[in-house]
Amino acid sequence: LIGVKARDNSTKSRDINGRRRMNQKGILVVVSGFSGAGKGTLMKKLVTDYENYALSVSMTTRQPRTGEVDGRDYFFVTDEEFENRIANDGMIEYAGYCGHYYGTPKDFVEKNLEEGKDVILEIEIHKVRAQYPDAVLLFVMPPSAKELYNRLTGRATETEEVIRQRMLRAVEESEGIDTYDYIVVNDKLEDCIAQINTIVNAARHTPSQNIEFIGEIRKELKEFLGSR
Ligand code: 5GP
Repeated sequence: LIGVKARDNSTKSRDINGRRRMNQKGILVVVSGFSGAGKGTLMKKLVTDYENYALSVSMTTRQPRTGEVDGRDYFFVTDEEFENRIANDGMIEYAGYCGHYYGTPKDFVEKNLEEGKDVILEIEIHKVRAQYPDAVLLFVMPPSAKELYNRLTGRATETEEVIRQRMLRAVEESEGIDTYDYIVVNDKLEDCIAQINTIVNAARHTPSQNIEFIGEIRKELKEFLGSR
């Protein structure tokens, strides 16, 4: 992959010189933002530009539409399989919609985190905080209300009434912004991507993300002193 910026995602706990690495486990990143803030474009570019991100793939019991690929657009499963997963605590969250189940499978997220990928979720934050206290909660802002309006109008697919509803929804959602950990402004796409990447990289350096590493250093220090 030419031009893709990668982090060393090796999950080995020591580098080639035998020095211990910081935790290489990935960060769970929850991304929210108003409709029209450009979240979709941002996330697409983030996963194409950088190798270390993985977008969570949802699971559903509805039939695939033409062109949809199992494991890329959704994991398509039977009612029975979905219900088994719910019973076995296999979903981070799920909901019913138009007679079908939709949800976020836990194993896909966990597997990618273990492999050192930073996993991006677009789900409601209250469903994540309790289960993943170290998740990074990110809110994508438009540069201004006028710009949000322009972007919504620019889509040319929605009526004036629908645009008004989305703006009203944004007013409501703006009340919850202070419950997030970080805010980025999606003005220049490139700058916003770089900022998200900086935030996620910083999150890898918190003590709570490196509990094992800290424990090992503590143990090593004692052993070192004991052997002298
Ligand atoms: P669609 O059938 O058009 O792909 O999606 C229908 C609805 O399901 C959308 O409103 C979408 O946001 C929702 N949905 C998709 N994936 C998930 C998920 O993982 N969890 C929840 N709770 N809803 C989802």
